[in-house]
Amino acid sequence: MGLTVFGSLALDTTRTPFRTEVEIMGGAATYASVASRQFVETEIVGVIGSDFPEKYLKILRSKVGTAGLEMKSGKKTFRYDSSFNYDLSHRTTNKTELNVIAEYEPLVPDQLKNSQYVYLANNDPIQNIKMLKQFINPKLVVCDTIEFWIQTMPDAVKKMFGMVHGVIINDQEARMLCGISNLIKCAKEILSWGPEFVIVKKGENGSVLVRSDMIFVAPAYPLEEIVDPTGAGDSFAGGFMGHLASIENSCVKEFRSAVVYGNVMGSFAVEDFGLTRLLSIGNEEIIKRFHLYRTLTQL
Ligand code: AMP
Repeated sequence: MGLTVFGSLALDTTRTPFRTEVEIMGGAATYASVASRQFVETEIVGVIGSDFPEKYLKILRSKVGTAGLEMKSGKKTFRYDSSFNYDLSHRTTNKTELNVIAEYEPLVPDQLKNSQYVYLANNDPIQNIKMLKQFINPKLVVCDTIEFWIQTMPDAVKKMFGMVHGVIINDQEARMLCGISNLIKCAKEILSWGPEFVIVKKGENGSVLVRSDMIFVAPAYPLEEIVDPTGAGDSFAGGFMGHLASIENSCVKEFRSAVVYGNVMGSFAVEDFGLTRLLSIGNEEIIKRFHLYRTLTQL
């Protein structure tokens, strides 16, 4: 049945100490769906303004289903401006311009209401909840969030976490939301709000999956060159959800494999600016990296 991804589509301005790119295609749903379509047919649901460049729209349409993509004429697309420090691991948000996202009323097209796998990428948590309520009986719903929503709508973020099967969140955000410094304790606190599992992403330190019955730790794929970390988390989610949706099996082994596919997709995303690298990879490269990862982490 594939995967449906809802969330932001953006024009990102990304500044690293080595290069700046202005208003390139980005957005949490964009990264997640471009990553997941390597595993499974993916539909993107979201909103853009009429200033979203045609060349980007063309790329998206060639990769993912866009039946749920709305364009609001006369409105501006969501914009995100951020800077990375010298080690390319710490990000500062310079500006978040919600624009068309601010007044969006989420609508799931009828043909997607039966989707079994749903990823609510980083977006207004109230909109995510409204979106979630429109799916009939999804088998697996996972969501993410970001600093901006934790600071502006913490209660809605917590409510959303209580309505999904799984939460994917980065370390800084987990600490900020829970007010706890230890990440395993953060994950357990989030579990107490309702989800069945939490994955905490730790950038170059990999990720940790916490469920009531297991903890699984996955180091990051060792890369020699990182160009732009933007979208690593969303691409992680795309790989994780894409794998589970493609095999329609959530046993422990496949859950662990999904975390590794998540790390692998995140590792591709950071190798170039924006979506460039993700758009150029093929299935063989993904499998190769997955197997190499296994070799590198086996005892
Ligand atoms: P990541 O680097 O995986 O945490 O996600 C970065 C992506 O999230 C960028 O492409 C941004 O356009 C998008 N983004 C940043 N802030 C927000 C926000 N407040 N709501 C929705 N999407 C956002």
